[in-house]
This record gives sequence, structure tokens and C-alpha cells, in this order.
Amino acid sequence: MMKTMWAPWRMEYILGDKEGGCIFCKALSEQDDLTLFKGNATMVVMNKYPYINGHLLVAPIRHISALNQLDRDEMGVLLLTVEQSIAILKKIMNPDGFNVGLNLGKVAGAGVEEHLHFHIVPRWFGDTNALTVFADVRVIPEHIKATYNNLKPGFDKLVI
Ligand SMILES: [Zn+2]
Repeated sequence: MMKTMWAPWRMEYILGDKEGGCIFCKALSEQDDLTLFKGNATMVVMNKYPYINGHLLVAPIRHISALNQLDRDEMGVLLLTVEQSIAILKKIMNPDGFNVGLNLGKVAGAGVEEHLHFHIVPRWFGDTNALTVFADVRVIPEHIKATYNNLKPGFDKLVI
């Protein structure tokens, strides 16, 4: 039997930002309601097109597209930000597990190819069945906003 790898962030390519410009750099320069954390070297934003509640994106502040463009310090801080984001999600949303990944290149499903970012997707037992149902439903902004409000206090305390 063939096993399907569940990679919801691949949908980002299809649903990706059509407005043009880099969503991460835009989030840094503008005040928006999706940015959870802006640090010295890293940032955390909520995926505007989540396939599951709590789908986060962790990116370096610098607009770079490849891992080898990160300096050693950024590498450490980036992974630390991933770890801390998982800790906050665990505490507030109590998931059973996580998918954490990088899409490098369009062929791999990167929606925002020019600015490196990790996806953090919280998982709950049985969520794949629910997702099949939700797949045809437009994401309601209020849900994102509610999740944002739940997660924001955790990220406000974050010092990296
Ligand atoms: Zn950028």
C-alpha cells in the first residue's frame, strides 16, 4: 500500500500571495495582524492560508533564499525560534505532534521562494480526516485572528 506523505504547506504554492512582494519583508515594514514575533534576527508569522489552525512560519529577518546565506549565529537563532514557537504552540494549543519543514524551490512547493522560512504545522490525532472536509472551505479570518490572540501573549514574552 502506498503511503502518502502529508505536507499541507505544499498548498502554499497554489494559494500563495498574488499581490506580489515578499510577505515577510512586508510584515516587517508594516503593522499587520499576522505577525507574532519580530526579533533581532528572526520573525514568526501566521500562515495566511493555513491548512490547520496554528500553522506558523519562522523566517530570518534578512531577505535571503538559501540556507548557505545564513551566518552561523542566524542558523542557531533560527532553530531556537522554531523550538520556542513549538513550545508556545504546545502550551497553548496542546497538539499531539508537529510537522516542521522547509520548502526549497518551487518544485518543492515553496510559495514564497525568495525568503527562506520554516513551516510549523501542529497536528492532532484524526486531523487528516477533518482536513479533507475543510479543504473546500475558505479559511475564515476570524479563526486566524482568534488563534493569533491566543498565541500572541506567548510570543510577547519571547526573548531571542
Ligand atoms: Zn523578504
